[in-house]
Amino acid sequence: MQHVRIPRAVSIAPTIVWFRLDLRLQDNPALNAARARGGPVIPLYILDAAAEGRWAPGAASRWWLHHSLAALDGALRSRGSRLILARGAAGSVLRRFARATGARAVCWNERGEPAAAARDRRIQRDLAAAGLEVKSFRGSVLFDPSTVANRSGRPFQVFTPFWRRCRTLPVEKPQRLRRGKFVAPARWPRSLALGALGLRPKIAWDAGLAAAWSAGEASARRQLRRFVRDKLDAYAERRDQPAGDGTARLSPHLHFGEITPRQVWAALRAATREAGGVPAGRGAWVFWNEIGWREFAYHLLHHFPQTPQNPLRPEFAAFPWARNRAALRAWQQGRTGYPIVDAGMRQLWRTGWMHNRVRMILASFLVKDLRLPWQAGARWFWDTLVDADLASNTLGWQWTAGCGADAAPFFRVFNPVLQGRKFDGDGSYVRRWVPELAKLPVRHIHAPWEAPPTALADAGVILRQTYPLPIVDHRMARRLALAAYDDMKRPTGPRSRARWRSRRIP
Ligand code: FAD
Repeated sequence: MQHVRIPRAVSIAPTIVWFRLDLRLQDNPALNAARARGGPVIPLYILDAAAEGRWAPGAASRWWLHHSLAALDGALRSRGSRLILARGAAGSVLRRFARATGARAVCWNERGEPAAAARDRRIQRDLAAAGLEVKSFRGSVLFDPSTVANRSGRPFQVFTPFWRRCRTLPVEKPQRLRRGKFVAPARWPRSLALGALGLRPKIAWDAGLAAAWSAGEASARRQLRRFVRDKLDAYAERRDQPAGDGTARLSPHLHFGEITPRQVWAALRAATREAGGVPAGRGAWVFWNEIGWREFAYHLLHHFPQTPQNPLRPEFAAFPWARNRAALRAWQQGRTGYPIVDAGMRQLWRTGWMHNRVRMILASFLVKDLRLPWQAGARWFWDTLVDADLASNTLGWQWTAGCGADAAPFFRVFNPVLQGRKFDGDGSYVRRWVPELAKLPVRHIHAPWEAPPTALADAGVILRQTYPLPIVDHRMARRLALAAYDDMKRPTGPRSRARWRSRRIP
């Protein structure tokens, strides 16, 4: 009798890989574990917006997600596989797909947001009860936040000692994807079409995003390679100039897990040929510190899960914020009359991204000059940033508002004119994003209201018509913000919140 060898793939049950914020093939422990089981691999993405609650992806993130899923599907197809798309409550979708495909196991990479992690634990229990094996792996952070603690065993709240401690910990090597095609199931389960997820905007406002970005793992890796090759050395000097292109522009790629901090680490090590613990060279050192801030953000979110809504420093809950829809609208639309603020807000609207220095300037402007709650700014960023990330956004806003960990003191109020002159000295950032001011001479570009009438006329600027006057007087607004802060600190709390709310911004 002839001996018939049954291919292994047929005899081993399929494994589902549940993709979330890990839209890549390389350095993907869940995918590697699924392949190592030897059976068919079913890559699955589930759009479960209801589970994300108020932090469901905003419009710009959804745009990115659409393109990143398309790229992941393309990469999987080049390996003989494909991405199955579904929507609904993730737990029941997973059970349904397991039943339909005969899968016996589900693998995923963990997410850093506490609410998502709690949901994962619930789903894991349900799947185990249904007889499925679940394997989860550390996702897109370098270190497990629950294991990094200060000497008293408590979470760090200051960046420098946190990162000093992290730098003593070994960074795992990125995992390579094994060569070869993936084992495909005998029959693929039905997938939704990508368009059916409804991620793309209904009205076409996304041309600027498409011009500025290319989502997906291949682009992320290219972007990292180019940055390390061409910009890393000068990063320390150029990272604070918004007009230049001196930063890595990796944040959306990192957020969606198209690339991991481990891969960044490996690229820095390879470029600087450093055999020791940290990459050599000032550029690499400073850049690695920035990756450290991302890590710190996840550390804080893990230990203080209330912070996307509530200030880490509880006394700030009593801060007498103003209520002013018109001012919020002017800020959102880039019509505050402060050119560097307006340039940033317009860059954000057009491209879904903004330089870090400008994020700090216009966040300070919202919170201190306009005295509007930092949560309103964080919410706007959530909807408009392609890199909107619960951990980093929360850290950035609480840092600026002075109510977070290792935050800028509240009395440090950024002067938008001086910041503009310092970091956009020749005005080219403002000229690019606020074209109605492009012809103003450099000495007036950051304060057009101080320009003499002839300079304005020569540049074609008509204040109030082609460009607004400042919506607040910075000096007065600063004084008022500091008074509000002092009031908050009174042992009995602010005198009257109503009094502050109604107080007009100067
Ligand atoms: P690079 O300077 O090249 O830095 C490399 C990477 O380090 C970044 O991609 C990012 O992952 C990380 N990083 C750098 N700076 C920070 C930082 N301050 N905090 C945390 N991680 C950092 N970043 C987000 O990814 N998502 C957000 O939603 C977000 N919201 C912010 C809101 C405010 C008010 C502020 C002040 C900052 C915010 N940041 C956020 C941090 C920072 O502005 C961006 O990470 C950075 O501008 C991304 O550009 P890049 O990749 O060129 O950065």
